[in-house]
Amino acid sequence: MRTIIEPFRIKSVEPIRMTNREERISFLEAAHYNLFSLDSEHVIIDLLTDSGTSSMSANQWASMMRGDESYAGSPSYDRFHKAVYELMPFTNIIPTHQGRAAEKILFSIIGGKGKYILNNTHFDTTRANIEFSGAEAIDLVIAEGKIPSSEHPFKGNMDIEKLEAFIKEKGAENIPLVMLTITNNSGGGQPVSMENIKATKYVCMKYDIPLFIDACRFAENAWFIKMREPGYENVPVKTIVQEIFSYADGCTMSAKKDALVNMGGWLAMNNAEWAEAARNLLILTEGFPTYGGLAGRDLEAIATGLEEVIDEDYLHYRISSTQYLASHLIEAGIPIVRPAGGHAVYIDARAMLSHIPALEYPGQALAVEMYLHAGIRACEIGTVMFGMQANGTEVAAPMDLVRLAIPRRVYTQSHIDYVIEALTEINQNKQDLSGLKIVWQPKQLRHFSARFMPLNLKEKQKENFSKAFAASL
Ligand SMILES: *Cc1c(COP(=O)(O)O)cnc(C)c1O
Repeated sequence: MRTIIEPFRIKSVEPIRMTNREERISFLEAAHYNLFSLDSEHVIIDLLTDSGTSSMSANQWASMMRGDESYAGSPSYDRFHKAVYELMPFTNIIPTHQGRAAEKILFSIIGGKGKYILNNTHFDTTRANIEFSGAEAIDLVIAEGKIPSSEHPFKGNMDIEKLEAFIKEKGAENIPLVMLTITNNSGGGQPVSMENIKATKYVCMKYDIPLFIDACRFAENAWFIKMREPGYENVPVKTIVQEIFSYADGCTMSAKKDALVNMGGWLAMNNAEWAEAARNLLILTEGFPTYGGLAGRDLEAIATGLEEVIDEDYLHYRISSTQYLASHLIEAGIPIVRPAGGHAVYIDARAMLSHIPALEYPGQALAVEMYLHAGIRACEIGTVMFGMQANGTEVAAPMDLVRLAIPRRVYTQSHIDYVIEALTEINQNKQDLSGLKIVWQPKQLRHFSARFMPLNLKEKQKENFSKAFAASL
C-alpha cells in the first residue's frame, strides 16, 4: 500500500463553523484586514501557527489526571524529568512555562554587552532575548539556506567556515554560547544534518565554547536525518535524537512544538554554575524548580508527548502531510520555498503576485484572499512583518512569504485538499488581486495590530471604509 493515512482515529471532535464569503468580508472588515484580529471561530482552517495548537492524545489526557499538584517534589516532575532525560541527558533540566522563558533566563545569565551568540538562524524570541540582554545575535546559516529555490537537503546547516572565522575575529572569550536551531524555523523549517551538528560541536570544542540546541522541532529534524542522511536509514529515530543531544551542552525547548502539548518548555544544561543561577531566576519569575510555571498535569502531558512524538509512524505521517501540501502546490504552479520544511509550507507571494509591488504587501494580499475565498488563515512573513525600519522609513523585506503552518494531528487529508483547491483557484485568478495600504500601525511589531485598507476599493466603498474607520478609533 502506498497511501499514507493518519495514524490515529478521532475520539473527540471540535466542530468547524462554516462561513460564506459575504460573512467573511464583514469579519475581515471588522478586523481591519488583519488576520490576527479575527475571532478563531470565524476561521475554517487555521494555519496561523503550529505552536501550541497540537491535538493531545487520549494517553496524554489520561496522564493529566495523574498530575500531582504538590508545590515541591511532585512525582509529575519526576516523570517529566525522566522523559526529557531519556532523550536529552543533561544533568540539569528546568521546566519553564514556554520556550521564551527558558531563553530569557539563559541570556540573563550569559548575555550582556560586548557578547555574541551565534546560531544558524535565531528564532525571533531568541534574538529578542539576546538583544534585550545587550548581546548581539549573529545568524550564520549556509548560503543555500537563503535561496528559496535551492533544493539542498539540509538548508538549516550552520556555515562552519563562517562560524570559525567569526570566533577567530571576535575572540572566543566574547562568545558564551553557540546555538543550533533544529529545525531552522526562521529559515523555513529546514533541517540540520548530523554531520553539521558534529562539525559545529568540533569547532565549539576547539575554542571551548558550549553548544546549545534550540530543540523545538528535534523529532522532525531527526526524521529528516533518517530520510536524507546516508548511514541513518536504519537507525531508530530515538537513537538519532540521543545522538544529536550527545553533542550538545544544553538546550532550550518550547514544548508547544515537538512535545505535542499546548503550553510548556524547559531549559537544560550540564554547567552546574549556570544551572544554579538559572534556578534562582526561575524562582523569581516562573516558580519552584520542580514545576517552573507549569501545573503537575502539564508536566505529565509533556512526558507522554515526548514518547509519542518520536513514534516513527507519527513522524512519517507528519512530514508526509507537509510534503503532500507542498507537492500539490508546486503542481498547481504556485511558487513555494523548496524543499518543504517540516512544520510549514511557505508560498513565495512576491513571485506569485508579481504585479503587486512589495510596499503594497503581496504576502498580506494573498493571506487576505485565502481567508475571503475559503476561510483559511495563514501568516504573512514579509514586508508587513519586517519592512518598518527603526528610523521610521519602510523598505521591502528580503522576501514576501505566506506561511502555512500545519498544527500537529489536527487536520486530515481532506482539510489539506481543501487548502490545495482554494490556492489553486486563487492562483488561476491572481491577476484580480491587488495590494493593501496600512492606515494605522503601532511603533513596534506592527504585523500583530496594523490596520489595512485594500487598494482596489471603489470610491463609495472607500468613503464607507473611512467612516467606519473613524468611528472605530
Ligand atoms: C516557538 C519557538 C521558540 C519560542 O518558544 P515559545 O514557546 O513560543 O516561547 C524558540 N525557538 C524556536 C525555534 C521556536 O520555534
